[in-house]
Amino acid sequence: MENQHNYRPETLMMSYGYKPELSEGAIKCPIFQTSTFVFKNAEEGKAFFELAYGLREKADGEEQGLIYSRINNPDLEILENRLTLWDGAEDCAVFESGMSAITTVLLEFLKPGDLLLYSTPLYGGTDHFIHHFLPKIGVNAMGFVPGEESEGLLQRIKDAGLSDKLAMVYVETPANPTNALVDIAACRSLADACSTAERKVLLAVDNTYMGPLWQHPLQLGADFSIYSATKYIGGHSDVIAGAVCGSREIILRVKTLRTFLGNMAGPWTGWLLLRSLETLKVRMEQQAANAARVAEFLRTHPKIEKVYYLGFLSEGSREYNVYKKQYTSAGAMLSFDVKGGEKEAFRLINKLRIIKLAVSLGSTESLVQHPATMTHAGVSPEHKEQMGITEKLIRLSVGVENADDLIYDLNQALEQL
Ligand SMILES: *Cc1c(COP(=O)(O)O)cnc(C)c1O
Repeated sequence: MENQHNYRPETLMMSYGYKPELSEGAIKCPIFQTSTFVFKNAEEGKAFFELAYGLREKADGEEQGLIYSRINNPDLEILENRLTLWDGAEDCAVFESGMSAITTVLLEFLKPGDLLLYSTPLYGGTDHFIHHFLPKIGVNAMGFVPGEESEGLLQRIKDAGLSDKLAMVYVETPANPTNALVDIAACRSLADACSTAERKVLLAVDNTYMGPLWQHPLQLGADFSIYSATKYIGGHSDVIAGAVCGSREIILRVKTLRTFLGNMAGPWTGWLLLRSLETLKVRMEQQAANAARVAEFLRTHPKIEKVYYLGFLSEGSREYNVYKKQYTSAGAMLSFDVKGGEKEAFRLINKLRIIKLAVSLGSTESLVQHPATMTHAGVSPEHKEQMGITEKLIRLSVGVENADDLIYDLNQALEQL
């Protein structure tokens, strides 16, 4: 009788998709540091290319053979197979950076005349691409603030006569650095309301902040779950990478454009991420547990004005309801306002000893940064104000250190204010 047990992703991260017998019995997948692959004979080479170029359908049980490392490589294929498990996706494509994952999706699925609707604030690189590159190919963009994704927004698009132009809704939730929440299911409804039988409006979610563990956009109706794998997936601040998860059909288009842009991840990156995935769940769970302790400490400290942490949303609020249906954890990202302004914020940051000052997030070590003058320095003053990115705001990505040591570090720095 066949074994019906469904293993959880964290169990499969050590073995899924890898056959030791194909690699001299090595328990770990080796780094396939090779540009090209030898065909057994000319007939095999012909068959591989027929599939790669879509010249015929796959025969029963036939798999795409290895051709050339811009098209496929075992380290990438195994990594992609493992990444699908967390999101419950049919397929995945990995990239040399989060930005290349994002831009490849936008380039493949948008064309001149299209409208892109996006939540604000977006990651700076994504925002730049939308405002400085997409207009050059005739793609227009319209932003909305978290909480606006409802009938009112749909009406705004209809009133502007743009509902037949809408091609994609692009969402980042929780928003960086304020943790404002966008309702993914409401975005799906909005996209559906603007879709026709011939033209489906697509929904993309940048899942870097809470995925792949605590938010599953595909289950909430999204077509893409996109990652900067530089953050939690990589998790050790030693690699830049990206990924896109979605249906077989969607990822086939993503991978086809990737083949011609040549922005796939290399075998080293793939291998490093396979290693990272084995500890993904324990890392993220420890980070979230530490964040809860740190947030609680900051909340009651007399020199702290406000803490933006998903565990502190008030019951019954719109955000709380989105939080309950969309997340399984409050996560490990928080931000807080110190009493005062830039001077106090800088002093606190400069006095920290264990917690490092650097942008990026999701890694084993805790990091702080000052959004107003660092990651969000390019945002206009009125946008900053609208989003609550003030001079007193500090963002903290909580790592796997001992929570008492993190609290000690914050406390000694706060005492010096
Ligand atoms: C870091 C980040 C990106 C960009 O990813 P890279 O790997 O740096 O290219 C995109 N979105 C979010 C939310 C990020 O934090």
